Amino acid sequence: MQFDAEFAVVGLGAMGSNAAWRLATRRRSVIGIERFHPGHVQGSTHGTTRIFRVACLEHPDLVPLARRSRDLFRELEHSSGLPVVSQSGAVMIGPETSDVISGTLAAAAAHGLPIERLERAALLERFPQHAGIAVDHVGVWDPEAGLAFPEHAVVAAVDAARSAGAEIFTDTRVIDIELLDGGARVATATRDFVVRQVVVTTGPWLGKLVPELPLDPQRTPMTWFDESEGADHPHGIEDFPTFIRAMDDDQWLWGHGSGDGFGIKIGPEDDPNFGPVDPDTVDRYVSARDWELVSDLVARAFPGIDPVPARTTTCMITRSPDGQFQIGRPHHDPRLIVGGGGSGHAFKHAAGIGELIAQIATGEPTLVPTDFVDPNRFLSSGMR
Ligand SMILES: Cc1cc2nc3c(=O)[nH]c(=O)nc-3n(C[C@H](O)[C@H](O)[C@H](O)COP(=O)(O)OP(=O)(O)OC[C@H]3O[C@@H](n4cnc5c(N)ncnc54)[C@H](O)[C@@H]3O)c2cc1C
Repeated sequence: MQFDAEFAVVGLGAMGSNAAWRLATRRRSVIGIERFHPGHVQGSTHGTTRIFRVACLEHPDLVPLARRSRDLFRELEHSSGLPVVSQSGAVMIGPETSDVISGTLAAAAAHGLPIERLERAALLERFPQHAGIAVDHVGVWDPEAGLAFPEHAVVAAVDAARSAGAEIFTDTRVIDIELLDGGARVATATRDFVVRQVVVTTGPWLGKLVPELPLDPQRTPMTWFDESEGADHPHGIEDFPTFIRAMDDDQWLWGHGSGDGFGIKIGPEDDPNFGPVDPDTVDRYVSARDWELVSDLVARAFPGIDPVPARTTTCMITRSPDGQFQIGRPHHDPRLIVGGGGSGHAFKHAAGIGELIAQIATGEPTLVPTDFVDPNRFLSSGMR
């Protein structure tokens, strides 16, 4: 069989741009194919900022992935001159028994992270923007946390992949992937590519190319707010850092204060209005119904912020049944690797995931155990 390259990476968003980069730095031949233009606003990786945390409450094995990601993001900053990650810290707030607090403490304990525990009085003194914190709520300060800048990161990773030798095709949609005896054919409208392995990282569209994965793309509007007139407390990122806050009624809010080029961003962890979608026909218009819940929560949690959003956009979260990613070889197939199912917390790990995909693709030891993200946990056993 005549191969066009050893690897094709399909979808150059958060995970794919980094997978292409990390494969190309290993001096392997790589083709990267992206349907739109890198840094676009059609998928899951736009809206200027993402929360970056190291004490990852979702799983302790995410801690080394976040740290590796941060180091790689710094390399991308250096190569591109664009800000990719900032370390302004983050505070988690909630009852001792909530996942926000217990998950963060478990990750910190497992890796000896330098977190700081804050009792309610200290929380209110240090972060007076947060009003109405319940009497039994506590805080955990993660000094290694902060913000990441997703559009910059994708553009920088695609450029870094190209500089390392990857051949990049933008504005090119993959319409089919056929697994062959010893390789894969990746079809676009204008030409086909034959490669030894294909990496599919098409975000909310992953289920269109690998339909057997249990993935649930959801429309997720994002909302930015302004300070109320005469607000008592400052709302810049230095005074109002990144937070995740469990409210009394099990609703979570996440967000951060404003900074250079970004506003006060606040969103709910979940909203019954944000239902499943087909990513090709998602409604990108955001209306008052979309911000009903977050406005109510903002009014209760932050009296110094105008609860009517000043800016909105629509994005998509792709949920896995257990809230963890899907990274690996479905059915242990040596021709195919998937990366997706970000479940609303994958951006901070994107460069680490790119490294993990490159390690899986080349048969190197992986930087973290992969069982908890292996797609085979959802698939019936056996090769295809
Ligand atoms: C509102 C919101 C808030 C979030 N907050 C955080 C946060 O604070 N912290 C955090 O860590 N994570 C957060 N996330 C999650 C994180 O942003 C995503 O998990 C991550 O960006 C997903 O990256 P991806 O590579 O899977 O998808 P994408 O970045 O969407 O990449 C998929 C790419 O594939 C391309 N593609 C699709 N189909 C084809 C095709 N047929 N041919 C070629 N190319 C194709 C698309 O154009 C796209 O570029 C949030 C997500 C949302 C929506």
